[in-house]
Amino acid sequence: MKPAAFDYVRARSVTEALTALATPGAKALAGGQSLVTLMNMRLARPELVVDIGGLRELARSFDDDGQVVLGALLTHRELVEHPTLGERHPVVAAMASQIGHVAIRNRGTLGGALAHADPAAELPAAMVLLGAEVHVDSAARGRRTIPAEELFEGHYETALEPDELITWVTVPDRAPRTGWGFVEHAPSPGHYAIAGAAVHVGVDVRGGVETVRAALLSVGETPVLVDRARRGLPAGDDWETWAEAITAGLEPAADDAEYVKDVAAGALAQAAGAAHARALDELEGTP
Ligand SMILES: Cc1cc2nc3c(=O)[nH]c(=O)nc-3n(C[C@H](O)[C@H](O)[C@H](O)COP(=O)(O)OP(=O)(O)OC[C@H]3O[C@@H](n4cnc5c(N)ncnc54)[C@H](O)[C@@H]3O)c2cc1C
Repeated sequence: MKPAAFDYVRARSVTEALTALATPGAKALAGGQSLVTLMNMRLARPELVVDIGGLRELARSFDDDGQVVLGALLTHRELVEHPTLGERHPVVAAMASQIGHVAIRNRGTLGGALAHADPAAELPAAMVLLGAEVHVDSAARGRRTIPAEELFEGHYETALEPDELITWVTVPDRAPRTGWGFVEHAPSPGHYAIAGAAVHVGVDVRGGVETVRAALLSVGETPVLVDRARRGLPAGDDWETWAEAITAGLEPAADDAEYVKDVAAGALAQAAGAAHARALDELEGTP
């Protein structure tokens, strides 16, 4: 199918993009990896497509004090290859490298993935895990900041208003003695995951588990956040029992919900085990 008729404008600045997005029926086009398909299937019928793909100012990143600031137009591939993220948050590269195929990673953007809000997508879960803040701008109201865990409201639904553009995402640095893990199970490489889990495990100076934060993907309407400190931690390193208890309460919207929960439990236990091991390695390496 071909898309319904639409007007098109290629924004030359963020201000121009925001002005165009204030038009009723307007929609931003970033990498086009989701929107174009939806338009071709006539599941999306924007009256005005605002092409933000040329806004190189939003394809930059900054290494700020205690945080990394990422432009909304960084592609999935740029996140995979990002040197500062690689050092501070290797989980992002691990997750972004699992998105579709290389052609999709070359075009798809961070802002597009967050705005599209597919519960099976890797980057929404990554940003929820990391406690990222999403900065959005509009011509009418200026800038506001939305914590990633409050951005996703439902299946493909976000807290964004139609005239708002995601411009920047701030990712705080990982706490000391915190290890990461990511495991997802997909039917084959390049496919969306049946279920997956990204985990941070923090240990105390003696190596005991102190905090666990996890984001599960493909198991609900939005990324599912699990945040535990003191209470609700695993007994020793029994991650399997812990993961089964967590995933028992999930309600995946799938015909094979029990299977999805099993897959999620396995992914969560494996990712948490890997995160725990990395936290202990870091502790051993600490002078
Ligand atoms: C074959 C195939 C396989 C895929 N597999 C995966 C996968 O395994 N995992 C995964 O996570 N994704 C997957 N994707 C989706 C891909 O990651 C998309 O790139 C991503 O979902 C959207 O990014 P985009 O830049 O292409 O956004 P677009 O398609 O341009 O836009 C998507 C939506 O976001 C809005 N939007 C875009 N940018 C902004 C912004 N800055 N502010 C506000 N709104 C904005 C648009 O208006 C639109 O509603 C796949 C896509 C394809 C075609």
